[in-house]
Amino acid sequence: MTAHSVIWDDRRLMGLLDGKKALVMGVGNKRSIAWGIATAFQREGADLAFNWPNDRLKENVLELVATLPGHEAMPVGPCDVSKQEEIDGFFAEIDRRWGKLDILVHSIAFAAIEDLKGRFHEISRDGLKIAIDISAYSLVALSRAALPLFEKAGGGSVMSLTYNAVDRVVPSYNSMAMAKAVLEAETRYLAADLGPHNVRVNAISAGPLKTLAGSAVKGISAARDLMEAKAPLRRNITQEEVGNVAVFLASDWSRAVTGATIFADNGFNILGVTE
Ligand code: NAD
Repeated sequence: MTAHSVIWDDRRLMGLLDGKKALVMGVGNKRSIAWGIATAFQREGADLAFNWPNDRLKENVLELVATLPGHEAMPVGPCDVSKQEEIDGFFAEIDRRWGKLDILVHSIAFAAIEDLKGRFHEISRDGLKIAIDISAYSLVALSRAALPLFEKAGGGSVMSLTYNAVDRVVPSYNSMAMAKAVLEAETRYLAADLGPHNVRVNAISAGPLKTLAGSAVKGISAARDLMEAKAPLRRNITQEEVGNVAVFLASDWSRAVTGATIFADNGFNILGVTE
């Protein structure tokens, strides 16, 4: 066996995220995109940490995390991103447990149902504020909290989840479309600001998935039917496929990629007329 083939064999045994510490925020249940990302990260060898946003989801998160090998060592704690003191406390705990962070996943969104499904011009001022605060400002707040931990790791990768209702009008996405527009702009501004710290910031624009948040958008089933019938790849997107794009963005293979919104939608976004 040549020296070259020994190196190759070793690499095949390694996960793409071996030795990386990844905080995955936004697991609500097993259908959550964050769960697809977490399981893909674990497959690739990352150490994981999780949050729960409120008492209602706490048990779900604890039960799911308990199904993962090595869960006893995983930091899991409360973090409602609308509360700065919870963000501060949570990251202090991650620092105490890990002393560094390599990967931050923001898979978080919230909007009042009436600000999604009604007429767009009737969105309430408070409804839009809440949607932007929880779904978009949180990316800035979490990136700021993570920065000292990324610096201890020598750099980091941040990613969030968006939807192509920013450049295209999607019925029943109203206030969330505005929040996603902010999130995508933040991705570019954070990438420019944090790049000199070797921190990359990207967004994944996923196709429609029947999750808790997805089901709050009227017409999610119709959107999935349309994707299956018309997307260039003629199929629907899965949680695992989004997880694999997240692995790429978390890994060193994407070290030249920052400020990007990457589509994981079977090519649906390139279509104009879908008739
Ligand atoms: P989900 O309901 O499983 O996840 C949303 C998560 O947001 C919840 O699990 C919850 O933990 C978190 N969250 C809500 N309010 C919070 C708060 N105040 N503090 C902390 N966390 C809070 O649904 P999902 O579809 O997995 O959504 C994850 C992300 O993916 C969202 O940003 C969503 O907009 C985006 N996305 C979803 C789809 C889709 O079709 N499902 C498509 C593209 C993008």
